[in-house]
Amino acid sequence: MAKALNAFVWKGIPFQLGMIAAAFFLAGSISLVPRTAAQTPRPRAAAAKASPAPAKPKLVVLLVVDQMRADYVDKFLGQWSGGLKRLVEEGAWFRDAAYPYAATETCVGHATISTGAFPATHGMVANAWWDRKEQKMVTCTSDPDPSVKNIGYAGATPKGADTAWRMAVPSFAEELKFQTGGATRIVTFSLKARAALTMAGHKADAATWFDGGAWVTSTVYGTQPFIEEQAKSHPAKADFGKTWVLSLPEKEYWYGEKALGAVPPEGWDLTFPHPLRGKSSVSEPDSAFYEQWASSPYADTALTELAEKAVDALNLGKAAGTDFLAVSYSSVDYIGHEFGPRSREIQDILVRLDKDLGNLFAHLDQKVGRGNYVVALSADHGVVPIPEDMQKTGADAGVLHLPEVQQRIEIALESLNYPKPSVARITGSDVYFAPDVYKKLQADSNAMSYVLVAIGTAPGVAAVYRAEELRDRPATQTPTLRAFALSYFPGRSGDLFILPKPYWLLDTTPAGKPRSYGTGHGVPYNYDQHVPVLLMGFGIQPGQYFQPITPADIAPTFAALCGITLSSRDGHPLAEALRHPSQKTAARKPVPTANP
Ligand SMILES: [Zn+2]
Repeated sequence: MAKALNAFVWKGIPFQLGMIAAAFFLAGSISLVPRTAAQTPRPRAAAAKASPAPAKPKLVVLLVVDQMRADYVDKFLGQWSGGLKRLVEEGAWFRDAAYPYAATETCVGHATISTGAFPATHGMVANAWWDRKEQKMVTCTSDPDPSVKNIGYAGATPKGADTAWRMAVPSFAEELKFQTGGATRIVTFSLKARAALTMAGHKADAATWFDGGAWVTSTVYGTQPFIEEQAKSHPAKADFGKTWVLSLPEKEYWYGEKALGAVPPEGWDLTFPHPLRGKSSVSEPDSAFYEQWASSPYADTALTELAEKAVDALNLGKAAGTDFLAVSYSSVDYIGHEFGPRSREIQDILVRLDKDLGNLFAHLDQKVGRGNYVVALSADHGVVPIPEDMQKTGADAGVLHLPEVQQRIEIALESLNYPKPSVARITGSDVYFAPDVYKKLQADSNAMSYVLVAIGTAPGVAAVYRAEELRDRPATQTPTLRAFALSYFPGRSGDLFILPKPYWLLDTTPAGKPRSYGTGHGVPYNYDQHVPVLLMGFGIQPGQYFQPITPADIAPTFAALCGITLSSRDGHPLAEALRHPSQKTAARKPVPTANP
């Protein structure tokens, strides 16, 4: 780690910025001095010699671990020996990376990483939101175009139609393909449509996700024979009957064998081993089996195999342009929701993911060449501890029941002349009123104050914000107001926004019913916002970096390495971790991978 310590960079400290500026000035003057003193004029032919274009990576690899808290790296690094360890030791580790916005959800985070923009710009404000025109919930990828249909590999017949049409700006990958004459191939994989599609963009050579036991895509995206072959030769159901057991000796685990407040998937109990056998008595894969599979390391391995097949079948990184490969690993998210961040399950799946990533990097080294590709790994959001577990500390923690908040609003407006019900939907932090209700409230300060007090006095509520406070990213902002403003997209976002107290979980479960999950995410606190950002490979200066950054900086960094321009100005290239062309790659001892 001593090598990495030498590369510490502390941006934001004027003294050090001054040093950097002085260094640049000095570098400039060194080249000027000899020229004025003793330089003889260059021959014309030499002067006319064209400079070679800057080298570019052959392949850009984006890895997103769904729901990976930044502190998982700090806690568990010592137990890793594969790809996660290699990213830390050979790459640039940004230790203070966090989303600055409120809506820390999957679709939002993936769209932010992919575009380099915040939700106020890219428009993916949640996994699903209330469509005021349609008066129904829509998912961020649902496409109403009747000519679009989801299509399944290996004979599957999925429902629905999913694309990235709601994403208001192009992805980095789309821009790369467009700005380099179409030579780029774009291939993405995830268990979730909202991850695979946002990482790819509006069109791609393949954007593949998992639905109801099958790999699927939609008619807007290309289908690939290698995915068909993989779907047939190693379908998820081939893992039926396997058992997820602990990978490390039991003493290596930080937490007790039963996570407090956990809600495991059907067919599993709170303790290892976890059998992938569906409901207890079935002999064939059922829906419970696929839920278990998605919540197991086997799903991560399946995604890794698909990524490796893509490299082989399409010769990614070997053609004329820079190719783009992205994988979003979804299982950490499912397990986190079920067992919470303080569980053996989370610790163990990271050990297994570390091995998968080690294999993936070994494959890329072999097929694309070490140093020819650049990798970024991040997460779309973190997660809050299970409230019942957090309460053990004595801290104020609990569950904010959104149906109760809705009831409070209806009661506040009961004796006034408002429609019944007045609330159309509360989803996440967003409160949507029935048509014209919010307009009326804005002109009726008494009724508005009743509503704000009704919400603000509900157990677990810290603050309520109105849409008009957030529009156009106002300049004077508290940190949480700014977070909601960066998430605000007119027409899609709610009318009012609920900020829970720290460690209070927003929950839509009707009163009196048990929660169907352990915990969640989606609010502007650091446990949801703070995620890893790790870069490795082509053009990257290894080291640990502590300046505050956001995952929206990943796409601009890729863009800088590839020599293209993104429309968004929300993110910035991580210049501190970009190697100057004259800097040589430091000789490093290779990190052994677990399964070479
Ligand atoms: Zn997620």
